[in-house]
Amino acid sequence: RFVSFEGGEGAGKSTQLRRLAERLREAGQEVVTTREPGGTPGADAIRQLILTGDADRWGVRAEALLMNASRADHVERLIRPTVARGAWLITDRYADSTLVYQGVGGGLPEDELRALHQVATDGLWPDLTLILDIPEGEGLARATARAGAEMRFESKGAAFHAAVRDGFRQRAAAEPDRCKLIDASGSVEDVATRIWAAVQPLL
Ligand code: C5P
Repeated sequence: RFVSFEGGEGAGKSTQLRRLAERLREAGQEVVTTREPGGTPGADAIRQLILTGDADRWGVRAEALLMNASRADHVERLIRPTVARGAWLITDRYADSTLVYQGVGGGLPEDELRALHQVATDGLWPDLTLILDIPEGEGLARATARAGAEMRFESKGAAFHAAVRDGFRQRAAAEPDRCKLIDASGSVEDVATRIWAAVQPLL
């Protein structure tokens, strides 16, 4: 099974990903967790290129190509082999982030990004995508409370983050079978319960 977590800054993806992995392991499943951009040594090297330096270091096309280059390595060397041996592979971000950040946020046409995705991954999409949805003000407050060297995207302003939230909500509306919109406000426990309900059909 291949599951991705998606959502804007501070939606709680990494916390919920850990919780889901623990719960699946308690249920006797083998689980591998990973994140994008990155996830393999080569993809992590590309992550450093993407996320360090000024926010305008890369134009949006270069950024989309770098995201897809890192994803190509991640899919070929980690995601496909893990899923093929019957384990769960859960990733913090995948291709919906590219459709939203470089597409809705950066202005690249969706059909071009889909063509790039086809080349990079041979058209691999998750079985289930959990889109954590939180009012962007709340998410940004959480994200900026967390110190980090990778805060350059957070400097993009309220309109950008509103567009990102809207973009993820559109993803859920456009592909309701694969993408489940999860209300990510409330306690960690409440959100974990909503996620577990969405994962049940895969068990
Ligand atoms: O929130 P997380 O730590 O997973 O994301 C790392 C950063 O990379 C975020 O600030 C996000 O905006 C950015 N990103 C992006 N395009 C992608 C994936 C992530 O701009 N395709």
